Amino acid sequence: MRRHDVVVVGAGLAGQRAALAAVGAGADVAIVSKLHPLRSHSGAAQGGINAAVGAEDSVDTHIYDTVKGSDYLGDQDAIEFFCREAGPTVVEMEHFGTIFSRGDDGSLARRPFGGAGFPRTIYAADRTGLALLQALYERLGTEPFTLYEEWDLTSLIVRDERCQGIVGFDRRTGSFEPIAAKAVVIATGPAGRIYGRTTNAHTCTGDGIAAAYRAGAFLKDMEFVQFHPTALLESAILITEGARGEGGILKNGKGERFMSRYAPHVLELASRDVVSRAIWTEVKEGRGFPGDFVHLELMHLGRERIESRLEEICDFSRKFAGIDPVVEPIPVMPAQHYMMGGVGTNIQGATNIPGLFAAGEAACVSIHGANRLGGNSLLETLVFGKQAGIAAAAYARTAADPSIVVADGKAEAARIETMVRRPDGEDPATIRVDLQRLMDAQVGIYRDFATLADALAKLKALKARYAKVRVRDGSKAFNLNLVEALEAGNMLDLAETIIVGAIARTESRGAHARTDHPKRDDAGWMRHTLAAYARDGPKLSYAPVAYTRWEPKERVY
Ligand SMILES: Cc1cc2nc3c(=O)[nH]c(=O)nc-3n(C[C@H](O)[C@H](O)[C@H](O)COP(=O)(O)OP(=O)(O)OC[C@H]3O[C@@H](n4cnc5c(N)ncnc54)[C@H](O)[C@@H]3O)c2cc1C
Repeated sequence: MRRHDVVVVGAGLAGQRAALAAVGAGADVAIVSKLHPLRSHSGAAQGGINAAVGAEDSVDTHIYDTVKGSDYLGDQDAIEFFCREAGPTVVEMEHFGTIFSRGDDGSLARRPFGGAGFPRTIYAADRTGLALLQALYERLGTEPFTLYEEWDLTSLIVRDERCQGIVGFDRRTGSFEPIAAKAVVIATGPAGRIYGRTTNAHTCTGDGIAAAYRAGAFLKDMEFVQFHPTALLESAILITEGARGEGGILKNGKGERFMSRYAPHVLELASRDVVSRAIWTEVKEGRGFPGDFVHLELMHLGRERIESRLEEICDFSRKFAGIDPVVEPIPVMPAQHYMMGGVGTNIQGATNIPGLFAAGEAACVSIHGANRLGGNSLLETLVFGKQAGIAAAAYARTAADPSIVVADGKAEAARIETMVRRPDGEDPATIRVDLQRLMDAQVGIYRDFATLADALAKLKALKARYAKVRVRDGSKAFNLNLVEALEAGNMLDLAETIIVGAIARTESRGAHARTDHPKRDDAGWMRHTLAAYARDGPKLSYAPVAYTRWEPKERVY
């Protein structure tokens, strides 16, 4: 029987930082990851990480920008803590060996990002995530811990009202294995693949969020889904906000720099919800290019700057769109990019289930509220990953030994193997694609009651199809067809929480834009949505937003 003090699920920035903190606190730690750690989606992050460093910037402006960006749904106590930790966190990553880009005087280079009152996004060209992930992996590698690689978390074991471990699917052997843990940290990252048009990697299916939800954890604010304004037209590969930060501009089919109509002060550097809605509106009102898109122009920045600061963007545009951004505009449209919602936690990463913690994109503290600012998410993984690791190790120190038995894995195997043994039924891939099409078409940037209610009915139909899902591949080793079936089930559960939360929230706030309720309603809706699992669909309740000193105001950029 495998046993550890702390099991961290996920080996992206949040999971690795949690593991490092828990090892540092003296715990016996294991990481369970379906991917090689360096393949985690954190490595795809391009633009940078926010921190108010240097004399001209201030932590207070970072706090204010984040509160405003969140459309006043972010918890202000958490945001204050987060922004104060930013400087020390970035410096620590620098000391771990992250090679950040530098200014001429040798100080950390910073670029402007959307919704930020000061250029405070620190970067490593347009490969910031990979630079951070590699440095952290090397640092973590000097510590003792166990790595279960190519293992999928399938469920959490909650017994006697506390989390006592997990069941994992070992892809290599095809077996379901229980791992006893005094504390578990969910750091499984994004769920963006619920959408078809997304910047997220194919593996971002929200598994850990779904497992926590089914185990009884509250999911917070799931209806808030971020769409990034600029993704390549066909592939939806991200073109970082750093491209606009470096001076890139947006133009519609009439050649107008249309952002002047939507954000007269900061134009392209308004926050993401604002820019995405602007692009969408231009196209829907007939001012896009034929084929429905707008242009992102970088040409005026000159070859040297484009190729040095946005090297990867050049590469992506040339290889995946056949466009050379040095000499021609890049055709772009918004794409799903980030989930503001996730497993509800406090500042220490604790959930409502004792012994269960969460951090990173899978969690919702909440610091992003209704809309995340670019550059705040990489920072979140490190700041709150560390907190969750410390808290999990502290909890494990006093927790009794888990009462997990080998049969716990067998029960899970039996539940899942019915999918493999079924003589007929539908392949998980078709259900997954139909879900993605539904979410793209009906749960996107703009929403209304009728479209959402219809989406919920269609989602229920997809769930009924999923009840008869069939895994055709009967093999034991690396049965990715089975993995796909597990992922599809997770995606369906989470999509339901998004739709149900979006139907209930009769206002427009941040990324949640209801055409039938176009105004923000602070009296009725300045509260967090909590979704609890029930067999017939999520049960919603609400929690207050934490205030310190920032009064809600109208959000203009
Ligand atoms: C293209 C792109 C660019 C971005 N650019 C930026 C940026 O410039 N700045 C910024 O602040 N943010 C950016 N973001 C957002 C940010 O990168 C992510 O929110 C953050 O890196 C998520 O980190 P994480 O550790 O929570 O998850 P991840 O890095 O995704 O790690 C998740 C881990 O969980 C594991 N896992 C998942 N499911 C299971 C399972 N069932 N069993 C076991 N293990 C599992 C995976 O193996 C992986 O190791 C970007 C996001 C994308 C998609």
